[in-house]
Amino acid sequence: MIIVYIGLGSNLGGDHASPKQNIVSAIDALGGIQSTQMISVSSLYESKPVGPQDQGNYINAVVKLETNLDAIELLDNLQAIENAHGRERKQHWGPRTLDLDILLFSDQVIHNERLTIPHSEIGNRPFVLVPLAEIEPDCVIPEKGLVTDLISKLDKAGLKVLP
Ligand code: ATP
Ligand code: CA
Ligand code: CA
Repeated sequence: MIIVYIGLGSNLGGDHASPKQNIVSAIDALGGIQSTQMISVSSLYESKPVGPQDQGNYINAVVKLETNLDAIELLDNLQAIENAHGRERKQHWGPRTLDLDILLFSDQVIHNERLTIPHSEIGNRPFVLVPLAEIEPDCVIPEKGLVTDLISKLDKAGLKVLP
């Protein structure tokens, strides 16, 4: 079994759901992926958008899973869950109902046309690192270092934990 961490984000609802409901529903769907078990779930966080600022704040979380899938099979499952939550691919870094990124896949470093692992922006994003540190305070990111050291270098002003 391989330990993986997934970053979740949403800043659009749909006909029947708010961003927060999309994240809660996605966490449930992640626990249902074949050959995969949910290990832990962070708090939910609210963050300011990356890129275009004319969009709503994001709800974010990070989960820890254990899986027998390979990284591409896992990505296929994540994209199916995104699609089931009404994900449309329009503007780069634009608003979305659900974004599921593979942050870490064991200690593996992967570069191919569909995947970059560790996630390419992991070291720059408080809304990923802070929930990751909440569930895995000793986490070491391959080629980047300790999660807590990375967090100490970032501006956390736009991030708050939800009650
Ligand atoms: P960012 O990568 O900056 O967080 P994004 O999440 O908005 O941007 P998407 O439009 O969701 O980007 O994804 C574009 C492509 O990124 C996906 O089709 C996928 O093949 C690729 N990708 C590369 N590395 C990863 C990863 N670690 N996790 C998920 N997708 C990845
Ligand atoms: Ca993303
Ligand atoms: Ca993504």
